[in-house]
Amino acid sequence: MRWTNRRPIQAPGCPMSRRDMGERNHKSRWGTKLLPILLLLIPALLMGQTPPKPQTMPPAPAPSIPPPAPPQVALKYTVLLDAAHGGTDTGARLSPNLLEKDLTLDLANRLRSMLAARGIDVAETRTSDASLSADQRAAIANKSPFSACILIHATATGSGVHLYISSLAPTAPQKFMPWLTAQSAYATRSLKLLSDMESAFAHAEIPVTLGRTALQPMDSFACPAVAVEVAPLRRHASSKTEPLDNPDYQRAVLDALSAALAQWRGEWRQQP
Ligand SMILES: [Zn+2]
Repeated sequence: MRWTNRRPIQAPGCPMSRRDMGERNHKSRWGTKLLPILLLLIPALLMGQTPPKPQTMPPAPAPSIPPPAPPQVALKYTVLLDAAHGGTDTGARLSPNLLEKDLTLDLANRLRSMLAARGIDVAETRTSDASLSADQRAAIANKSPFSACILIHATATGSGVHLYISSLAPTAPQKFMPWLTAQSAYATRSLKLLSDMESAFAHAEIPVTLGRTALQPMDSFACPAVAVEVAPLRRHASSKTEPLDNPDYQRAVLDALSAALAQWRGEWRQQP
């Protein structure tokens, strides 16, 4: 076979042939029955690839469809806040007048405003007293590639802030992660995010307890994820305990979280 620049030959509907083959003259003694097959083989032969069998060729895309976007798409730094509980799931009763579901929502909404003031985009799993299942929360978390996912809980026991990451063993990322263990691919980055948060709370002189836990929806989250459980504040054994509804204490917790997430903005793209 010999190619010259005289006459265009184009496999109908194949953008690759249109873009890469240009004009060429086709000299063949083959009958017209074989011509369509030959036309389908031409692009592969030119690309140095094994030509596909004509009967297994997928339908050719329309010429107007652009090539797929490159895999490395620049993503904007975006944080997801998951206010735990809600609706009929009240969570813990933190005091006679304070339910966990209300405090977590209040903290999430206020943290969103503080992060927005730093120019950080924030999404929330709920912004009202809505009832969401763990699967619904995971579906929201996995719909977009979030840079950090923060789950907010509260408890009347313990002191300071309890930070948890998943107890799943780290695994290599795959194209399709198992739904219930998607967090395993983010274990290393979740640990780094935890470290930033621990530093921020230490700076604010708020006691921190670190832990690993099997927790849904966190184990299903495909993003660096940390669960924050806010407890009453008792800085020293001799000091008085600040309750969860103390506004100064709440403000200090939110300031520390905001500072940690601002710090994470410079680190989240780094691979483990
Ligand atoms: Zn809770």
